[in-house]
Amino acid sequence: MESVQKKQSLVERDRQNVWHHISPYSEKNPPMVVEEGKGSWITDHQGKRYLDGMSGLFCVNVGYGREELAQAAYEQIKKMAYVPMTQSHGPAIELAEKVNEMLGGDYVIFYSNSGSDANEVAFKMARQYHQQKGEGTRYKVISRYRAYHGSSAGALSATGQALRKYKYEPLTSGFLHVAPPDNYRKPEGMSIEDYNIARARELEETIIWEQKETIAAVIMEPLITGGGVLVPDPVYVEKVQEVCNRHGVLLIIDEVICGFGRTGKAFGHQHFNIKPDMVTMAKGLTSAYLPLSITAVRKDIYEKFKDGKENSHFRHVNTFGGNPAACALALKNIEIMEKENLFNRSAEAGNRLLNGLDDLRNLDFVGDIRGLGLIIGIEIVEDKLTKKPASPECVGGLIAACKANGLIIGKNGDTVAGHNNILTLSPPLSSTDDDFDFIINVLKKVFHEKVN
Ligand code: PMP
Repeated sequence: MESVQKKQSLVERDRQNVWHHISPYSEKNPPMVVEEGKGSWITDHQGKRYLDGMSGLFCVNVGYGREELAQAAYEQIKKMAYVPMTQSHGPAIELAEKVNEMLGGDYVIFYSNSGSDANEVAFKMARQYHQQKGEGTRYKVISRYRAYHGSSAGALSATGQALRKYKYEPLTSGFLHVAPPDNYRKPEGMSIEDYNIARARELEETIIWEQKETIAAVIMEPLITGGGVLVPDPVYVEKVQEVCNRHGVLLIIDEVICGFGRTGKAFGHQHFNIKPDMVTMAKGLTSAYLPLSITAVRKDIYEKFKDGKENSHFRHVNTFGGNPAACALALKNIEIMEKENLFNRSAEAGNRLLNGLDDLRNLDFVGDIRGLGLIIGIEIVEDKLTKKPASPECVGGLIAACKANGLIIGKNGDTVAGHNNILTLSPPLSSTDDDFDFIINVLKKVFHEKVN
């Protein structure tokens, strides 16, 4: 009895003291206080278990409760807890080698703490690189509407979701947006390939209209994840690379969600025939057990920062980036992914989920089901013909029903500014076959109950 009371008071204490991320305050729906995690399952403070179909925020790729990861961090902390990255240490060197190998070579690794940080670093490097090449008029960064690139001023400026931004403006200047391909909503009668080529052409036109000598970089995810799981046709990504090359613009690929197996390959951009100038990554790098992020930069770009001229080094430092325990843990995390073949598992399990959910496409309110590996979006509409997004109440009702049945799913989108009508699934790559069956069964039950 006493312990129940103590646990209930956690919610009260939380209400009094904790300000939650991007969540409206609600008396009726207090935040879940989570106590434990094992595999793909988490347990709240009242002992109720849920399958975490979102891996936290698309990040706990190897699942919860991995003792080997705790051990790797523990050993490193005992040996050497902190080294600033103005110097170096073994785990940082080894991890840089490993990530570079996973990227196919040719990169150097810059460490930070979060996905936002990694993108800020990329923007600063891009601007300085052009200056040092004698093209100092290049400062603008082009990204896409609906994309999310982070919460700090520059990363939020690159983000293409107005609702997240408008109350905090003016943000950083020099950020422009173009529309991404949204194949579900492409113009009637146009082939997917032609539509994707047209979207890449719009990017090129923007570069030309803006005066190409002012454009430093394009940043994009391999597929838009948080903006509603928009998987492009490969031709789009490959044309974007061509356009960037043609106009001397750097291509930054944001792998913060897609990296480390989420899409069924080590990195999402490896589905396409491209070689980015920079690759940013975070989340799956440590499976979010500790904070760590990377900006991987092609060596030919790095050359411009090490020419020995006064002031040509990159004038950026952060205290925690490259923390030794985080690097040691990341190495162990990647070792687990390789040992358990989790990138292939993600590809296979993604297909299994898409097949298992296929019947739901017939329901009136299911507009589209799409994904790549273990990132899947289910677009909920009011009307299949007009594709009008479903109301927030409808989408929220489905999420609440899944939760009541023990499954946590997400919602993303911005189909209409700020309107999130795309249910999102992004379970741990290590989920078992039973876990995947559970996800399919809960979604089927909840969706069919909505019909009846
Ligand atoms: N880029 C992408 C694609 C993301 O999804 C996120 C976070 N969801 C970020 C950047 C920012 O990462 P962080 O929250 O670690 O700053």
